[in-house]
Amino acid sequence: MTSPSTLAGRVYEHLSARVARARTVLGRPLTLTEKVLVNHLRDAGAIASLERGRSYADLDPDRVALQDALAQIVVLQFMSAGLTRVERPTTVHCDHLIQARTDARADLSRALDANAEVYEFLRTACARYGIGFWPPGSGIIHQVVLENYAFPGGLMIGTDSHTPNAGGLGMVAVGVGGGDALDAMTGEPFNVRSPRLIGVHLTGELSGWAAPKDVILRVAGLLTVNGGTGAIVEYFGPGAASISATGKATICNMGAEIGATTSLFPYDDRSAAYLKATRREEIADAAGAVAADLCADPEVEADPDRFYDRVVEIDLTTIAPLLNGPDTPDRVHEVGSVAAWARANGVPTTVSTALIGSCTNSSYEDITRAASIARHAAAHGLRAKAQLLVTPGSEQVRATIERDGLLADLEAIGATVLANACGPCIGQWDRPEADELNTIVSSFNRNFSKRNDGRATTKAFVASPETVLAYALAGTLDFDPRVDDIDGVRLAPPVGTDLPAGGFDPGSGGYEPPPADGSRVEVVVRPGSERLQLLTPFPAWDGHDFRELPVLLKARGKCTTDEISAAGAWLRYRGHIENISGNLFAGVTNAFTGVVGEGRDPLDGEVRTFPEIARHLAGANTPWCAVGDTNYGEGSSREHAAMEPRYRGGVAILARSFARIHETNLKKQGILPLTFVDPDVYDAIGPRDRVSVLDLAALAPDCVVPCRLTHGDGTVTEFACAHTLSDAQIEWFRAGGALNVIRRRQPRPRTAG
Ligand code: SF4
Repeated sequence: MTSPSTLAGRVYEHLSARVARARTVLGRPLTLTEKVLVNHLRDAGAIASLERGRSYADLDPDRVALQDALAQIVVLQFMSAGLTRVERPTTVHCDHLIQARTDARADLSRALDANAEVYEFLRTACARYGIGFWPPGSGIIHQVVLENYAFPGGLMIGTDSHTPNAGGLGMVAVGVGGGDALDAMTGEPFNVRSPRLIGVHLTGELSGWAAPKDVILRVAGLLTVNGGTGAIVEYFGPGAASISATGKATICNMGAEIGATTSLFPYDDRSAAYLKATRREEIADAAGAVAADLCADPEVEADPDRFYDRVVEIDLTTIAPLLNGPDTPDRVHEVGSVAAWARANGVPTTVSTALIGSCTNSSYEDITRAASIARHAAAHGLRAKAQLLVTPGSEQVRATIERDGLLADLEAIGATVLANACGPCIGQWDRPEADELNTIVSSFNRNFSKRNDGRATTKAFVASPETVLAYALAGTLDFDPRVDDIDGVRLAPPVGTDLPAGGFDPGSGGYEPPPADGSRVEVVVRPGSERLQLLTPFPAWDGHDFRELPVLLKARGKCTTDEISAAGAWLRYRGHIENISGNLFAGVTNAFTGVVGEGRDPLDGEVRTFPEIARHLAGANTPWCAVGDTNYGEGSSREHAAMEPRYRGGVAILARSFARIHETNLKKQGILPLTFVDPDVYDAIGPRDRVSVLDLAALAPDCVVPCRLTHGDGTVTEFACAHTLSDAQIEWFRAGGALNVIRRRQPRPRTAG
């Protein structure tokens, strides 16, 4: 696998020339985001046609990171593409599947047992296909990426919303669905809408109890949860350089909570120091040589309103410690006012649990600052009054804070250290004792209802690690660490350092690089596994029109990817297409009856659940279609929502309109997404109708597709559909899916596995 420094070197090789060309073509100075994007355009000539918020661009990411829950289906699909190795540096991180219950040792041991077959599959598949493997216990995806792979000016995609964490080191890092990750792994470009740009101008410096986390909590309050949608947030100004690289990463990480595509900071001395401390001097030196192009042009800083779509001013000296929540990260409270709000809104002021860490806030700096409070508290006889849980973000952080006595400081006031994994941040928190309405305070990033322990009765506030620790000691929201005492003790404001004087201790991370030649490695899928199933390529189009397709369902109103393929308990089967297809359309509202998840089986007229009908049709080798209303497939870019219909024999989805990402996912799986030219056709479709899609041999970009509705009484309605397939996407349809096209391009036929 290409080393991180080689990769960075390649990016810097053309950076200045491409940036200069873009300045000439656009006739103006550039923001940092624009510099990174133009340097990763697949077609350098596309610069002139980039239009913020409107045009789409094909980008070539430098690397891909996959978390274990999603990696299963991505790797299984990659295997069916017939490639021998990934086309781009890729890593898999085993972090999401570890459930927190007792402590690090017990929880990790239980996860190794419960997920053994998944880990075995991922380990062997990574070795076979040239993917770096970070085993359970090695750390959380974004912290590991920050420590090892993120670099200024790079572009990466990752299958977790908080991939933007790497923006702390100046990387454009975007959270994506499995389909985009798969594209990148097979060498295809990453197609993304040209983002709008939000500039955040930072002045002043943080002090006292205020921390980088409070900056993003303030930004969330200003922009709200939707304010960053379709935008990249770029921080700049003298205040930026006063924040450590890991502090910047915290700010970028949580930028996902305002809906931003990503966030990033310019390269500076703090970035260089972090790169050097994490054994990447070569990258720091190479970045230093092109530093002028790893930040916005001076004219942009001087007159930001001309170059950003929106500018936000933040004076860091005015930032106070905050607690945002519950249920949404943009509900801002200063520490002194949160208790009054809680009382007025029926939220308990007693803190049941305080949680420090996750990928968002578990840096050396975070822990040194929290530990300084813990030491002071212990010296004055205090212990945490709330349960206190600490999640190190990586084995490197854990080993270093253990070596430097910081874990001991936290344990001395009653902390329990959890595994280096997501745990309570992603609902992997087995917490049987917490059935009643209760309040938690965490330094994680997300706090919507049920996020942490699956219970709507848990009210989560998000704060910096140092603020969380103060509330752990106080045990109540009725407390302001700046002015209140705990049992007669006034806590000292936190102090810390961003980099360990003795260097980082890598610990026993256990990273497994792929062998140079993995072709002899056998990918292990246990026989009879209920969690993993090798994929068989979908059949190519047979060259015939689709005639008299039964309508499996007609969806009423909103039809999200979650309603098409539910998450929750079904996530266990993400690697098993047959088993997870047991949820197909289970959450969709039947337009004919108003009932959710069931309809009339077109084969025998019986009422069954939609998943059962789909299984019945597939078993009878009967291709079918489904009908959607407007914006069919909105929501997360879950590829199962497109794979499952295809797996069960669906060949076309007809709708008034599609959510763009889901429409693309359907095309990739070989399903035709068609929109009614006359939206009223939707209303004309009845429960016993059949749909014919005609003249498919003549399918071409922008053509109208003639269709026919054969009603239950035998009468016929002709209608027309539009589509958005390009030439390349029509090739996907004919081949039976995008992976089949890649597979065909390989020198000789290969079989999955
Ligand atoms: S700790 Fe939370 S935000 Fe970070 S990778 Fe895990 S689930 Fe995502």
